[in-house]
Amino acid sequence: MPDIVLKRERERSLKRHHPWIFSGAIERVEGAATAGDTVRVRSADGEWLGVGAYNPQSNIRVRLWDWHAETAIDDDFFGQRVQAAAALRAALIAVDQGGAVRLVHGESDGLPGLIADRYGEVVVMQTTSAGARRWRTAIGAALGTLDGVSTVIEKSDGDVLALEGLAPVHELVSGRALPATLSAREHHLAYTIPLAGAHKTGLYLDQRDNRALIGRLARERRVLDGFCYAGGFALNALAGGAREVVAVDSSAAALARASDLCALNRLDGARLRVVEADMFKYLRSLRDARERFDLIVLDPPKFAPTAQAAERAARGYKDINLLAFKLLARGGLLATFSCSGGVDVTLFRKIVAGAAQDAGVDARIVQQLHAAPDHPIALAFPEGEYLKGLLCRID
Ligand code: SAH
Repeated sequence: MPDIVLKRERERSLKRHHPWIFSGAIERVEGAATAGDTVRVRSADGEWLGVGAYNPQSNIRVRLWDWHAETAIDDDFFGQRVQAAAALRAALIAVDQGGAVRLVHGESDGLPGLIADRYGEVVVMQTTSAGARRWRTAIGAALGTLDGVSTVIEKSDGDVLALEGLAPVHELVSGRALPATLSAREHHLAYTIPLAGAHKTGLYLDQRDNRALIGRLARERRVLDGFCYAGGFALNALAGGAREVVAVDSSAAALARASDLCALNRLDGARLRVVEADMFKYLRSLRDARERFDLIVLDPPKFAPTAQAAERAARGYKDINLLAFKLLARGGLLATFSCSGGVDVTLFRKIVAGAAQDAGVDARIVQQLHAAPDHPIALAFPEGEYLKGLLCRID
């Protein structure tokens, strides 16, 4: 097995069980290693630190599978990690067989670069690291043996693949046939999502609990669901008795899903207006038209994938939050989110505070919002806390 030898003093984060080794920390590679190969890692002093997957094309050169260099990385290893991840969900989260749940959340489940979401009987996996891609068959087999799972598919796409030098994949891993749609229930609402053109694994499961919260807050309110995708927040608001819901996305396909799901769930379509627009421009037009809302949700895509991109992202967040504060009626609520890894909770709060100030409103945080508990965050891996949100009330 090839060995990775670190530069002097570069073993500290590994000793804290952070799973990434950046290219700049590596002194040399002993032996020939290609993308996805298992490598052992040792410090400049010769201390063994762990075993991981190598990727010469990624800035994250090694992702650790384990912090014991002697751990065997084989089919059994992945079987055990997948079982452990599934057992955690079974113990902590009440999602029934027809529901949707994240079974594996990458680094925080000891499986860097692997996402696996269950929609009823179907598991959708994504491999976004060379190591997870190398072991996809073993991982797929392990997911296929879980209780109630009939089919495992891989749907790996999106920008992160390019950073890792990986090609997109959309195919059946185990089971009889590649399904055309995913079906699952969440909070008494049914979701049917065509896989072609779907984002991520199909739905954004991290927002499950926050969608329920918006449902509880929506009664009699005029609601704006900004960056709505398939309308998750909008549908919960309608089911919760919102007076009117305006759902906005730049993707016509996403809005078609939202309208379909409104009909599928027999919600009152007359109270839902879907708008295809760029949210940055649309918020300005609402401001110019002196529109007012009682509840606004802002759930934009990742503006900053890395810490380096944080400054530009900060301007984007400031802009939309400032406009949203201006659109809120007295006593109105803003549920605002960031899923940018490069913007941490503290920075996000500062940006939102600045937006309220510039909008000329006094606002309080009445609740801090997070990803649902099937998205655990390893304490040694703060990057796992990518989704943060604030529920603010203006006085
Ligand atoms: N709230 C959704 C998930 C939102 S994902 C849920 O609960 O399921 C972010 C969405 O923002 C995507 O659907 C994407 O199409 C949309 N989007 C990206 N850029 C946009 C822009 N500039 N204006 C409007 N929508 C945008």
